[in-house]
Amino acid sequence: MQLSPSEKSLEIRDLVVDFMDQHVYPMNQHYHQIANSDRRNDPQALAFIDDLKAKAKALGLWNLFFPHLREDEPGVGLSNFDYAPIFEEMAKLPWAPEVFNCNAPVTGNMELLAAAANEQQRQKWLRPLLEGEWQSCFAATEPQVASSDATNYQTSIVRDGEDYVINGRKWFISWSMHPRCRFMILMGKTNPENPNRHQQHGVIIIPLDTPGVHILQDTPVMNAYHVGGHPEILLDNVRVPAENLLGEPGQGFAIMQSRMGPGRIHYGMRCVGMAEVALGLMISRAKDRTAFGKRLHEHGSVANDIGRSRIEIDQARLLCMHTAQTLDEKGVKGARKEIGMLKIVGTELLQNVSERALRVHGAMGVSDQTPLAELYGLGMHLSIADGPSEVHLPGIAKAELRDHDPAAFEKFYNIPQRL
Ligand SMILES: Cc1cc2nc3c(=O)[nH]c(=O)nc-3n(C[C@H](O)[C@H](O)[C@H](O)COP(=O)(O)OP(=O)(O)OC[C@H]3O[C@@H](n4cnc5c(N)ncnc54)[C@H](O)[C@@H]3O)c2cc1C
Repeated sequence: MQLSPSEKSLEIRDLVVDFMDQHVYPMNQHYHQIANSDRRNDPQALAFIDDLKAKAKALGLWNLFFPHLREDEPGVGLSNFDYAPIFEEMAKLPWAPEVFNCNAPVTGNMELLAAAANEQQRQKWLRPLLEGEWQSCFAATEPQVASSDATNYQTSIVRDGEDYVINGRKWFISWSMHPRCRFMILMGKTNPENPNRHQQHGVIIIPLDTPGVHILQDTPVMNAYHVGGHPEILLDNVRVPAENLLGEPGQGFAIMQSRMGPGRIHYGMRCVGMAEVALGLMISRAKDRTAFGKRLHEHGSVANDIGRSRIEIDQARLLCMHTAQTLDEKGVKGARKEIGMLKIVGTELLQNVSERALRVHGAMGVSDQTPLAELYGLGMHLSIADGPSEVHLPGIAKAELRDHDPAAFEKFYNIPQRL
C-alpha cells in the first residue's frame, strides 16, 4: 500500500491551497449571504463563482477529479490516489469544489458519461460539463418507493418511434435548480418485463427545458435551503430522442456503478477535509476559553475529544488513500468493498468530529457563526445520500464472508471443533 501522495499531487495541492487562500476564502461570507437569501439560485448573484471558475481554469486547477481526459479537454487527468489530498483541501469549504469544476453531483455525471456515452453523446453532453459551461443533475430517487433499493425505481421510459417517453416522479434531485443546470441523467424502467430485476432499468438524458419536466417546490435539508436545491421533479409525458439513451435498454444498473464508485470515494475525501476544519476550530476554542478555572482543553473530556478526533481523522485518511489506490488499480468493481467502507467511515467521522467541535463551542456551535452545524448536517445527509450506510454494511460483510476460509481458523480453537 502506497501511503504518500506523488510529488505532482503535492505540487497541485499547494497551488490549490494558495488559490483557496487568495481567492476563495475571502468570498466565503459573501457566499453565505447569497446562499441564505432567496437569491441563492440567481445567476447574477452567483456570478462571482463564474469569475473564480475562470481564474481556476486559467491556472489548470480544473477537472482534477477526472482521470479520463482526452488531450483536447481541459484539465490535468490525475489518478484517484493523486486527487485525494487535493480534494481534501478544496472540500474544506463545502461550496468550493464548484470553483474547480469538481462538485457533486456533476462529477458523478461526468464519470458516468465517460463510461457510457458514445462519441456523439460525449461531445454533446460531456464536453460542456468539462468546460464548466453547464451543470447537470442526477435523478434516481423516487418518493413512492424505498430508493435504497434501486431495483424499486418505477419511472417509466417507453420507446415510441424515434423517441422515448418518460413518466414518473423523482425527488431530492440536487443541483437541478442551479442556474447553469441544463439536463438531468435519469434512471427509470425500460424493460419492466425482464425477470432479472437488475436488467429492467435504463439511463437517459433529459434536457430540463423539455416540455413535461416540472421542477416542483424545493425541499429544505436539515431545515435549510441550498444553492441548486433538492426539489421534487414531475415527469409528465416527457419526450426525448432515442439517441439520448446511454448504453442499451436494461443496462442501467451497470452504468450507474460507473457513477457511484468514484462519487462515493469523493465523499470520503471531502469528509476528511471537513473533519480537519472541525478539529481545528475545536482546538482554537478549547485553547481560548476558560471554564471552572481552566482552559477548556485542560478538562480531560475535551482533551480526549481532541485526541480521539485526531486518531479518527488519520485512520480515515489512510483508508481514503488505500481506497483510491484500489480504485485506480482494480476499477469500481474491484474496489467496491473499500468504497463502501470509506463512505461509512468518512460520513461517521464528519458527524463525530463536528459534533464534538460543536459542543466545545457551546451555544455558538449550533448558531450560524461557525460552519459546525452545517458540517454536522452534511455528515448526516452524506451518510444517507447515494445509499445509506445500512445498505453498504451488508455488502462489506458479504465480501468478508466470501473471502473467509474457516479451515484457516481451526488452529485457534482451544478444543477441537467440528467445522
Ligand atoms: C441531501 C440529499 C441529497 C440527495 N440528492 C440526490 C440526488 O441528487 N439524486 C438522487 O437520485 N437522489 C438523491 N438523494 C436521495 C438519496 O440517494 C436517497 O435518500 C437514498 O438512496 C435512500 O433512499 P430513501 O430516501 O428512499 O430511503 P429508503 O430506501 O426508504 O430507506 C430508509 C432507511 O431504511 C433503512 N434501510 C434501507 N435499506 C436497508 C437495509 N438493506 N438494511 C438496513 N436498513 C436499511 C436505512 O436506515 C435507510 O436510511 C439525496 C438525499 C439527500 C438526503
